[in-house]
Parts: sequence; structure tokens; C-alpha cells
Amino acid sequence: MKYLLRTTFVLWLTIVVAPVWADDVILVPDAIFDGRSSELITGKAVLVSNGRIVQIAALDSLEQSAAEIVQLPGQTLMPGLIELHSHVLLHPYDETNWNDQVLKESWAERALRAGNHLKASLEAGYTTLRDLGSEGAGYVDVGVKQALQKGVIVGPRLIVAGKAIVATGSYGRYTVAHASTPEAMRRAIMAGVETIEHGNAGTVEIFNLMKDRGVAWCPTLAAGEAIAGYQGWKKGEGAEPKRITAQKASFAAALQTGVIMCAGSDVGVFDHGDNAWELELMVEYGMKPVDVLRSATSINASLLHMADQIGQVKVGMLAELIAVKGNPITDISVLRKPTLVMQGEIVLNKN
Ligand SMILES: [Zn+2]
Repeated sequence: MKYLLRTTFVLWLTIVVAPVWADDVILVPDAIFDGRSSELITGKAVLVSNGRIVQIAALDSLEQSAAEIVQLPGQTLMPGLIELHSHVLLHPYDETNWNDQVLKESWAERALRAGNHLKASLEAGYTTLRDLGSEGAGYVDVGVKQALQKGVIVGPRLIVAGKAIVATGSYGRYTVAHASTPEAMRRAIMAGVETIEHGNAGTVEIFNLMKDRGVAWCPTLAAGEAIAGYQGWKKGEGAEPKRITAQKASFAAALQTGVIMCAGSDVGVFDHGDNAWELELMVEYGMKPVDVLRSATSINASLLHMADQIGQVKVGMLAELIAVKGNPITDISVLRKPTLVMQGEIVLNKN
């Protein structure tokens, strides 16, 4: 199966140059962002064995006998990115509006599109997606997840919601709520949700309540900018739309309170694979790049109750890793073009 998975990628991606790697791989980057630290780690290599990180040390002190050594010059190795708000069963509204997608596209078409969306997401360095609702397609999201698990298609790990506000995947009765007005957010917080999506009219008072109760916020800034664009806005030209001014104000209010920030873009409203746009906007709206990187890795992993498996470059974690050119702490936009994506046995190498 391992060979098949990798062969499949060779057919799909002409840029793949390392189709079949040994079971043990040593990745030698210039630097490592481990998912938490505020500084990059240098002088260390990472030994991956059977899909897990087993050692992080100087190259000459690693067990090298049977391992394939992969040099990543000029690159930073970091955890695979985690998207907390996707809709793999939607595609951009300027291609087909939401009503027509939900009312006129067959579930078969939507499932096939989802397969393409998942491939684009993995190529973009996203190794886990929390998909928040099938948008009129019943439990097709569950079927797509099962197809992924069987190796029928490739893509990020999917944690799906099915219909409306429901338990995520197999992790108990955890809930998230899509809410925009302060009153809707307050009710969701008091009802015990773990994350609030959108919240674009959030106030300091509401974000303080969220902080007190440990509720995290997924601001979905990219969806807001995409929709304003579909309505005719050209960024940098003319008056700023009210919804953009409002989402900037709520983002500033949230930063002021120190509420837990997730990284979730609402991708599906815009192109799958463009998820890193959200991370760029979080920086543009005033968040420190290293904090954005933490949100998209270790913090998102904690919010998925998977902090012991993903979101950090750390011994014992799953080998879900990406490499990017340069330093993502000083230039968040390098996340747009990962040079390597490793998801256990699946490896995309664009070096
Ligand atoms: Zn959504």
C-alpha cells in the first residue's frame, strides 16, 4: 500500500522527485519551527521511522544505518498545518453560488469535487482539516472521510461534523457553533461550545467571556475578504466594505483580550489549497507571525484534542511535517509554497 500511495502521487504530481523512500528517513533542514517555541531551532535533524518522529538531534549523532537522508537546504521544517474550518463539499462562490451548489449539484459531483479539494489541501501543506458541515449533502462528508481512511483518495486527515452542529468525528460530544452577533456568541458560550466560528461582530466583553470559559475563536477572515471580493471589492481600491472594517475591529478586540485564537479560514468559500491566506490575514490584522504559526499547529491540535499526536515537531509525534523555503516567523507568506509535505507514508517532495 505504501508503494501504491507513493506511486499514485508520482502520477499526479510531476514535481515529485522522491517517489519511494526508505521506512527510516532523516530530514536535515536549516531550521525547525517546533510548533511552540518563539525561536527557530538550528543544527538539528529529525529521524522519522514508520511514520513517527523518533529522534531530534545533530545529524552525526542520529542512528543513520538504514535511513535515507533528505537534505533540505535553506528550508524550515515545521508541523503540518491544521485547518479548523473547512468545507470540502463547497467550492468558490464566484464559480457557482452557494444556493446552486447545495440545490442543483448532485451529491456524486460534490463528493468527486471533494476528492480534488483534499488533494489540493495536502499539496498546500495542510495535513489535518476540521470540516464543519456538509452544506446540504447529508453525511457525504463521513463517506469521504471513510474513503480517505481506506486509501481510495489522498488528502489531509478529516474530522467531520455531518449535519449542522454535531459531535466531531469520534471524539465524544464536543461542539462548535457558527455565530456572528454578540448575542448568538454569548448563547453559544453559555451552552458550552468549544470554539466559535466567524464571530465577526464580537466585542471585548464577549471575547473576555470566551477567554474566561476557555472558548476559542476561529475568525475566518479569508472568507470575509473573499465574499467582499465577490461583491465587487478590490482590495486597496475605494472605500473599505463595512464587513471588512467590522471584522478588523473584532479581530483587534479579540487580540486585546488574549482569547485563544484558532486558525480556521472557512475554505470552500474560496479555493481549496489557498488556506494560508487566512494566516497571512491574521498577521495583516495585527497578530504576531509566531503566534499565528502556533495557532495553525499546536493550538489547533489542542482544540482537536490531538495535542499528543500532531501539531508539534517532537519525539513521539506523528510525522506530519512540512518544509518551507526561508523563515516563516519573519515571512508568513512562505507557507504558501511548501517544498515538502510528509503525512506518514505519503510524501510530496517538490525540492
Ligand atoms: Zn462553516
